[in-house]
Amino acid sequence: KENPEEPEHGASMQLPARRGDDVSPDASEAPPNPAEIDAPEGRRQESSSSRSRGSENQPSPARDGDPSAGPPGSQQPPVSNPFAIPGIQKAEIDSQLNSSYTFERFIEGDCNRLARSAAWAIAQEPGATSFNPFLIYGGVGLGKTHLIQAIGNYVQAKESVDTCLYVSSERFTTEFVQSIQRNRISEFSMFYRQIDLLIVDDVQFFSGKEKTQEEFFHIFNALHQSGRQIILSADRPPRDIEGIEERLLSRFQWGLSADVQSPGLETRIAILQRKAEDDGIELEQEVIEFIAHNIKSNIRELEGALIRLLAHATLHQRDLDLDLAKEVLRDLMQDMQVNLTIEEIQRIVCDYLDIPEDLVRAKTRKREVVRARQIAMYFSKKLTQHSLKTIGLHFGGRDHSTVIHANNTVEDQIETDDQFASMVEEIGRKIELRSR
Ligand code: ADP
Ligand code: MG
Repeated sequence: KENPEEPEHGASMQLPARRGDDVSPDASEAPPNPAEIDAPEGRRQESSSSRSRGSENQPSPARDGDPSAGPPGSQQPPVSNPFAIPGIQKAEIDSQLNSSYTFERFIEGDCNRLARSAAWAIAQEPGATSFNPFLIYGGVGLGKTHLIQAIGNYVQAKESVDTCLYVSSERFTTEFVQSIQRNRISEFSMFYRQIDLLIVDDVQFFSGKEKTQEEFFHIFNALHQSGRQIILSADRPPRDIEGIEERLLSRFQWGLSADVQSPGLETRIAILQRKAEDDGIELEQEVIEFIAHNIKSNIRELEGALIRLLAHATLHQRDLDLDLAKEVLRDLMQDMQVNLTIEEIQRIVCDYLDIPEDLVRAKTRKREVVRARQIAMYFSKKLTQHSLKTIGLHFGGRDHSTVIHANNTVEDQIETDDQFASMVEEIGRKIELRSR
């Protein structure tokens, strides 16, 4: 039997009944003797491979007699399946997919082409390609969740696998912690081992959650060894995720990783056109282009702008024209910039350029520091309501002409140096994202 010490483990758990982001199970998860909880690799591996053998001749996920099914006599009703649809057999797992995230609704552009074609290939033959796991990474609102769910929806519609499950890493963590509290770890682990296509969103949230990572590691191995498809997303390349065990990180990179990037202008226009069409709204081209020109950061923002525009038009009985778009977007952009401080801009710029933050306020005239300072001044002028004088003061008491000079220097270089321009754009995006 597996992990005979689990009951004590569970009993010793004292977790506050919280949910959501601030659930940090592993902080409070420290068992009296970690060596007892950390089941030896061999034992776990063994049980997962016997499971995988089982999976071939046992289509039903009930898996009685499975060696990892928990201590004898601990037969519990299958309440720990958090995804079961009440009244339906355990085998019918609610995939948790959002049915609107389909390939048809996903607009392809340079920013997501590789990710999309890999996703499509996997959807044709889940588990059969070498893209296992398949990991999509990229910033917020760029379509990761949409694309990984599109695979699930496609496969489900084709019925090419029995069980498909979408879960966020936060939910996985929460369910895992609850399974510990309720002495249901083996059910938890069994539940996941019956999934043929497992989609785990935002794996960076596993960061720092050691016990959860360990559990996921074993589930990953069990599924992978038996040729089941694993699909992951993260907000950055796996190698940049901190606080995740090396062995798990390396597995994340076993198959294929593909990134999604911010959409270019044409893709933004195509997306807006399509969304408007889907919603049955008629939008003039100039309105679409205006939005596409002004909202650059991500696709969620684009959608947000469109929804907002529509809401204003309906509520105030206005025409959906350029004037309204200008008004609505002005508000939207102002909302985004409220509370943005010069210090925050300095922090983000320095973070990005890897320069100690206090240097932008110091006297130094080292080249990299001057550049960081100028970029931070440029954004302070552009994105805050502060006067040039105030901005100068925040940079170690420099005067307003220095700020103007910095601003002009940055603007000039943006015009002439593409690489610099895209760097500044990227920093701008980071500022925009964190300022909300
Ligand atoms: P992420 O998971 O990367 O943060 P989402 O998948 O949640 O982003 O996407 C945000 C919104 O933008 C969703 O409503 C999604 O449907 C939409 N979206 C993202 N990418 C595309 C795309 N290429 N085509 C159409 N809609 C998209
Ligand atoms: Mg997402």
